[in-house]
Amino acid sequence: MKNYIVLDLGGSSVKYGVFSDDSLILSDKKTHQNKGANHIYETIFSVIDKCMKICEKRPSGIVLGSPGYIDTVQGKVIGCSPNLKEWENAEPKKVISEKYNMPVQAENDANLMVFGEASVYGYKKNVLGYTFGTGIGSGFIQKDEIFCGSNFAGSEAGHTVINPKGRLCGCGKIGCIEAYASASSIFKIFNEKYPERNFSNIKAVLDQCQKEQKLNKILTEITDLTAVSIANTVSILNPEVILIGGGLSEIASYPFEELKEKTLSYIPAAQKKSLIFEKARFGNKAALIGGLETAKKLWG
Ligand SMILES: [Zn+2]
Repeated sequence: MKNYIVLDLGGSSVKYGVFSDDSLILSDKKTHQNKGANHIYETIFSVIDKCMKICEKRPSGIVLGSPGYIDTVQGKVIGCSPNLKEWENAEPKKVISEKYNMPVQAENDANLMVFGEASVYGYKKNVLGYTFGTGIGSGFIQKDEIFCGSNFAGSEAGHTVINPKGRLCGCGKIGCIEAYASASSIFKIFNEKYPERNFSNIKAVLDQCQKEQKLNKILTEITDLTAVSIANTVSILNPEVILIGGGLSEIASYPFEELKEKTLSYIPAAQKKSLIFEKARFGNKAALIGGLETAKKLWG
């Protein structure tokens, strides 16, 4: 029986899990503040210390999911993620493995999420997954492997440009789909257009769109752009499965069926054959499950 620790670092918290083989024996999260990389490391260390106490025997390794482009060989963050600026060029693999003297693997968080979701299919299929949350993450699993591109910057479908004269994205480019279709972007678009409505959160926006046609028209345009972006990615990758996950897509009033219908309408017939388009299943635990699968592959 092997134990693994998996951490999923986000913009304001670290989710974590301790696995004993396939069983999740602890799952929780701890918040961190934006006080620089040292503070993030301190939070990570306190979480690992807690996880170590839970493990009946010494863990076989630690997997860390992180925002940003991750050099998975060196376990380094390449540049900086707009959602976690103080983590710029961090070297979590080196720092954590030196402190705990055990194997550490770092991986992009969206890749881990999709890898976890792809486990449903036994890794026999090519799976393209999206996570719609504060930003838009994506990952592509090509049979059993996370596709990382030529310099660890692949599978960033959230930054495909759908309007070169459009809105500014958090990545610094103009017109990425993330600047339109992430939870924070949709919220921003509606608050800019209807400041007097004082929408309190993204759920309030989506709920109101179901009630008012003029609001729904804007959401439909956003859904259409999202479908174009997904279909373009599908045209290149020809996956067997498209998964849609993330907090935004879990809101009941999110137009998932409309997105599915529109996306399929933009995909050529040859690629639509036996294509599965469905919602992700593991919710906010997907990255932890992806981390477990990664750990088993590396150290199992
Ligand atoms: Zn972008």
